[in-house]
Amino acid sequence: MALMGRMMSDPLLISSLLTHAERHSGETEIVSKRVEGDLHRSNWREVARRSRQAAQAFARLGAEPGDRIATLAWNGHRHLEIYYGSSGSALVCHTINPRLFPEQIVWIANDAADRILCFDATFLPLVEKIAPLLKTVQHFVLMTSRPHMPASSAIPNLLCFDDLLDAETGDYAWPQFDENTASSICYTSGTTGHPKGAVYSHRSTVLHGYAAALPDAMDCSGRDVILPVVPMFHVNAWGLPYSAAIVGCKLVLPGPHLDGKSLYELFEGEKVSFSAGVPTVWLGLLNYVKANNLKFSTFKRTVIGGSACPPAMMKSLQQDFGIEVIHAWGMTEMSPLGTLSKLTTRQLDLPAEQQQRLLEKQGRVIYGVDMAIIDDEGRSLPWDGQSAGNLVVRGHWVISQYFNHDESPLVSVDGQPGWFPTGDVATIDADGFMQITDRSKDVIKSGGEWISSIDLENIAMAHPAVHEAAVIAARHPKWDERPLLVVVKKPDAAVTREELLAFYEGRIAKWQIPDDIAFVTEIPHTATGKVQKLKLREQFLNHVLPSA
Ligand code: AMP
Repeated sequence: MALMGRMMSDPLLISSLLTHAERHSGETEIVSKRVEGDLHRSNWREVARRSRQAAQAFARLGAEPGDRIATLAWNGHRHLEIYYGSSGSALVCHTINPRLFPEQIVWIANDAADRILCFDATFLPLVEKIAPLLKTVQHFVLMTSRPHMPASSAIPNLLCFDDLLDAETGDYAWPQFDENTASSICYTSGTTGHPKGAVYSHRSTVLHGYAAALPDAMDCSGRDVILPVVPMFHVNAWGLPYSAAIVGCKLVLPGPHLDGKSLYELFEGEKVSFSAGVPTVWLGLLNYVKANNLKFSTFKRTVIGGSACPPAMMKSLQQDFGIEVIHAWGMTEMSPLGTLSKLTTRQLDLPAEQQQRLLEKQGRVIYGVDMAIIDDEGRSLPWDGQSAGNLVVRGHWVISQYFNHDESPLVSVDGQPGWFPTGDVATIDADGFMQITDRSKDVIKSGGEWISSIDLENIAMAHPAVHEAAVIAARHPKWDERPLLVVVKKPDAAVTREELLAFYEGRIAKWQIPDDIAFVTEIPHTATGKVQKLKLREQFLNHVLPSA
């Protein structure tokens, strides 16, 4: 019989990260640019105390283990306190993307059966509109202090977050429970149909937080000052709120102030050394810095992911500003980190051009994730840098099932079950560098945000003049991809480009409306009658969008 280890096996709980940060880095700052406009200074000790008060307040409102606490919020200290206060007390933090169309937010909140909704003042008009449709929400909490509460609101019994916390002692011991308990939920619309929830566990979150901080991953240390530009409603800000607690570093949270000038002032004023975000957010910052002939004095390193990082952006950050760019790939379903592009020792001797080409790839997996590329029959393909196949992953922080879906999304590789199909198509070279070459899932990713092609097609099909509609991603220099609507009109029907685009107004979020329409006589189909998106994408490969 196997000999068992004689080691302690405390569960890996998110509350332990906060307790560690409080005890060992209590005075280290948490700085927030708030919706109210002020620059708020706190620290890990204060955040830990307020997180315990939040846990007490949620319990007083009747929340029970497993209940979902939803947020519609920017990056800020109150959001961080909800992260830790809810997960730490066995509740589930459900971060909702406020950029979605109100109907989608309602659908997601009802699917998750959220019990309490906490939101920033920015979203008060939105929440007032949708509140009657949120069937399960019992309490609405505005994330502000008493002086900033509105005199009146369409929401009855609107609660004030700071008041709720101030009414509690903070004298609270984090409960111990199974590390596989759900800690947070994030919905993704990165697949077809309705959005689906990825449910993270305490164990997966803690392990991901550890791994993300490693030198060949995000390389976080207690001496860093981290500013996550990536929103806390996008896969838990890529785990940075947890990694920051593990290493005990300073966090700078930019709130809604994401324009180039505000970010630059925050980077300089707070001595930010490391940041992370999707490619689009760097455009505004780079434009501002270049236009004003400025330099960064402390900013040294950034992780760029969520969409392919344009090589020109990578070069500019490296060469003009001396900032190391770490290109990363991951997914909501992967917590999100999968691969990061860092050179191996041997590659440090390669010519600069070759190194650059490697850094532009999506990179190598970190321990905790395994990957493979497979053909349509599930056979693994060689790692030769040439063979492109469906990218599948498995690991400690990869989902095994979606929330509220009984069926397993997993597939087999060479007959071995248990792999998650990413919907990305990639090559992997002999050194393990993965490069995304295409996407098999039928969605558009614009500025790091998903747009469902099916939603757009359904709207077009509802127009009386449309016989058939297909939406594909067209290249865009700023947003990476933008939707292009391809339409076959009904015989004798008349509709103009402008009329059809106007038809989308009010039916979908403004930023999701197609950029352009191509009228064609025929859309290519497969033998089974499905639209051949691949062929359509090839056909419109060189399509220049008017907005480009
Ligand atoms: P999300 O779940 O919103 O994080 O989206 C995950 C998807 O975004 C991946 O499956 C890819 O299709 C895409 N993606 C993420 N990072 C990258 C990257 N570095 N390069 C290309 N595509 C990426």
